[in-house]
Amino acid sequence: MTHPFLDLPPLTAAHFAAIERRVAALLATEQDVVITQGEALLPLEGCIRGGARPGSTALNVVTGPYGQTFGDWLRDCGAHVVDLTVPFHTAVTAAQVAEALAAHPEIDFVSLVHAEAATGNTNPVAEIGEVVRAHGALFMLDAVASVGAEPLLPDAWGVDLCVIGAQKAMGGPAGVSAVSVSERAWERMAANPAAPRRSYLSLLDWKERWIDGGRAALPHAPAQLEMLGLEACVARIEEEGLETVTARHASAAAATRAGAQALGGGLEPYVHDSRDAAPVATTLRVPAGTDAAALVAHARAADPALPLVAGGGALSKEMIRVNHYGPDATRGTVLSSLAAVGAALADAGLRVDIEAAHRAVSETWPSR
Ligand SMILES: *Cc1c(COP(=O)(O)O)cnc(C)c1O
Repeated sequence: MTHPFLDLPPLTAAHFAAIERRVAALLATEQDVVITQGEALLPLEGCIRGGARPGSTALNVVTGPYGQTFGDWLRDCGAHVVDLTVPFHTAVTAAQVAEALAAHPEIDFVSLVHAEAATGNTNPVAEIGEVVRAHGALFMLDAVASVGAEPLLPDAWGVDLCVIGAQKAMGGPAGVSAVSVSERAWERMAANPAAPRRSYLSLLDWKERWIDGGRAALPHAPAQLEMLGLEACVARIEEEGLETVTARHASAAAATRAGAQALGGGLEPYVHDSRDAAPVATTLRVPAGTDAAALVAHARAADPALPLVAGGGALSKEMIRVNHYGPDATRGTVLSSLAAVGAALADAGLRVDIEAAHRAVSETWPSR
């Protein structure tokens, strides 16, 4: 009996390389792209362990929970870490990064998250890349939550290590990710005696055994289901057009923000300035006296398919996230998410205007 995803023939090296080329095209990059067969934390950790070493000084920009994880890895590598932490309701500015670099001229590595799905902000990478490049540090970007949701141009922005994952705006599987690696980054890793080798975390192994060998033979059996999933989601983006896909995410974010403001009931955008709000997900601050996790549970009881989650950790009481990404970046999902949150707020005794929210969504994101 045939099965949709069992008994598949092995994925060939040529097929693997073709998927890699399509990912490179998605990122408009001429750099080497390494597809990593694991969730995006795999290449993120690989980049840090390859790029940082004892004696390094790293500027770690913390605009959400992932930045905290990077700081822990950097310290674990023996690097001296300068944390630049900004409040989660805002973005970091290029001026703040420039100031930190000027205060610590020895900084040779910078880690930054582009968009933060967990806190709903997005950082101005083009401007930040300019100051990092002027300083000469290696620049690592976590673009997992921005790829497909907003413009992402690692080459133009001077990003040396750009990590993406398929599971957010690309609408693909979580078990596959990729990183584009600049020539400078390869040199840094090759010169780092502490860089992982003969390890699943090793990007250098992939360079040596796959890229430098002309992509003729894969170092180990590829995770074919994930690779086929990655190929399918890239094909779908190519078909719709990357610009159309990112525009759909921008509209979903703008409409969610406007709709939440019109809804009332004390609900407010968590990210103060709309310019700092990420297209991938919109975070909302719930009114005092309510509990975000309880409101989300109530809203999802009516429709478990809605992309609503409470904030993680300490944010679980105060923040609702609307994960309007991938197939959920639609007007319909935005409308039903706001209606469900509105109903939960109303049941908690708050005055909401679901009609006004509906109008605000339609005005912000008109249907054509
Ligand atoms: C989603 C995401 C990741 C991947 O982590 P998961 O929690 O496993 O989804 C990494 N970085 C950022 C910025 C993300 O948004």
